[in-house]
Amino acid sequence: MREFEKPNELIDFREKLGGSVGFVPTMGALHEGHISLIKKSVEQNDHTIVSIFVNPTQFLEGEDLDRYPRKIEADLKICKLAGVEAVFMPKIEDIYSSDELRILAPKIKGYILEGFFRPGHFDGMLQIVLKLLNLTNPSNAYFGKKDAQQLFLIQKMANDLFLRTNIIPCEIVREEDGLALSSRNVYLSQDERKKALTLSTSLKSATNLILQGVRDVKEIKKMMIKSLDVTKLEYIEIVDRDFNTLEEVQIQNSIILIAAWVGKTRLIDNIWI
Ligand code: AMP
Repeated sequence: MREFEKPNELIDFREKLGGSVGFVPTMGALHEGHISLIKKSVEQNDHTIVSIFVNPTQFLEGEDLDRYPRKIEADLKICKLAGVEAVFMPKIEDIYSSDELRILAPKIKGYILEGFFRPGHFDGMLQIVLKLLNLTNPSNAYFGKKDAQQLFLIQKMANDLFLRTNIIPCEIVREEDGLALSSRNVYLSQDERKKALTLSTSLKSATNLILQGVRDVKEIKKMMIKSLDVTKLEYIEIVDRDFNTLEEVQIQNSIILIAAWVGKTRLIDNIWI
């Protein structure tokens, strides 16, 4: 497996590849969620490239950039075992210059929900994803539904800017008890982990209500709020696949989204109806 730090080295490597190229961008501290994306890429492409880069521009002032988990040795082993051909792990100065041209997230859909609570987060996320897509020029790029709004905005960027990469959505990987895997789960104490579990159980209960015929979003939200045990709820919302907020659940076209703090850890989860 090749390891690259410099953009030009990656471009040279990429230029020589024939056949299809799959790309999986990550911030490292890889877990089974990331591995499922990597496996899908290895299955579906002749070559797979993974990037590991904790992107500073998508963290807001005061967020967890400095303490974000970094496990580069373990990550490289995981990639090698999974059949990855190259890992790109640039330094910040290899990727960013001063007074950069900026990509801006859409004014509405980039500033609701996650974008409302983390204003500017999606600008930074799209900036890095576009750079990485340009560097790797992949046939297919893999993103988790765990970050549903991110996936929506990347798909929108690909459409709006006529990118020639297929954006492939991947299912959310969960622990046996339902907790969505996240690199940030390592921040949770045992007690907090129990509380964190109420995010996924509330989503499951909401799905059950919907299966029983309930469609009213207010009623579903009320039930979810009751079943949560979190430090601070940021939002519960039900949107359609284009991230329009819904008042009535639409079967096969709704996503229930939740974001909440458990102690000092901010968690998100969602379920696709
Ligand atoms: P991150 O390293 O958190 O930036 O995530 C890299 C990619 O892995 C993103 O496309 C995420 O949506 C995806 N991902 C993270 N957690 C999960 C999970 N539990 N299941 C599926 N995909 C995930």
